[in-house]
Amino acid sequence: MEINKLLKMLIPEFLFLTLFFVLIAAMPEEKKMEYNNLTPEEKRVIIDKGTEMPFTGKYVNEHADGTYTCKRCGAVLFKSGDKFDSHCGWPSFDDAIPSTVKKLPDPDGIRTEIECAKCGAHLGHVFYGEGFTSKDTRYCVNSISMNFMPAENNNLDTGYFAGGCFWGVEYEYRQLKGVKSVRVGYMGGNTSNPTYEEVCTSRTGHYETAEVIFNPEEISYENVAKYFFEIHDPTQANGQGPDIGEQYLSVVFYKNDTEKKTAEKLIALLKNKGYKVATKLLKADKFWKAEDYHQDYYKKTGKTPYCHVYTKRF
Ligand SMILES: [Zn+2]
Repeated sequence: MEINKLLKMLIPEFLFLTLFFVLIAAMPEEKKMEYNNLTPEEKRVIIDKGTEMPFTGKYVNEHADGTYTCKRCGAVLFKSGDKFDSHCGWPSFDDAIPSTVKKLPDPDGIRTEIECAKCGAHLGHVFYGEGFTSKDTRYCVNSISMNFMPAENNNLDTGYFAGGCFWGVEYEYRQLKGVKSVRVGYMGGNTSNPTYEEVCTSRTGHYETAEVIFNPEEISYENVAKYFFEIHDPTQANGQGPDIGEQYLSVVFYKNDTEKKTAEKLIALLKNKGYKVATKLLKADKFWKAEDYHQDYYKKTGKTPYCHVYTKRF
């Protein structure tokens, strides 16, 4: 009697608990993790493995420093340092952050699909052997599958200037207060990953360019640009000093309209003073960092520039 009574009391409890566990087990895997809500267009690409139209994604021409995360689960997938311009119409990376991207055969039997390893969100495809970069790999990713998180130091700004041998431009900018770092490289050409030797032929169209990273709270872009016109001769039309050739021409690469207008204003000021300014204004594109032996050249060698000297012009 006693046992029967106890069982009668416990059966509803058992039923309730069983029902509870059955429900939990029946819940789709994705419901257990916290995922971001997706718009219908995001769902079409991320869940239904669609493809966004080329050249329409918001990160195709994104060049800022930072990381790219999964739109659906937030996992960190790619770094801006691995992004390159493939001109294919989708953001392209030659590497992914280790074990964050899963590769699997596409149902088309030809391509290799890539997914977020954490949540299975469709990202795009990966291609090999196209020769874009030294890693010979292109992760071709839909912008809509990702979010971009700018780097922590996004209070810093960047200017790009070409004014002859980049060793000298770098050397002079390192003396300027408010400048945090300078790298030398190549910009404005029509090939990817150019080498110094290739640029020296003048056939790739690149200019020897300095990437100047500065703190806008300490120095304005205008003053950074003004300094540029005073550390090289902006009136020399065929190169700089003894360095003659396309790659040594004077160029301000502007990232936006504000920078362009600033440079135009400075050039107009110089022209008013009688300088025949030969400096070109070009829209900034991918900055290809030069080989390590070109970085900090004068600091490493203890020499001083032969063709760059500060001259007050404003
Ligand atoms: Zn994910």
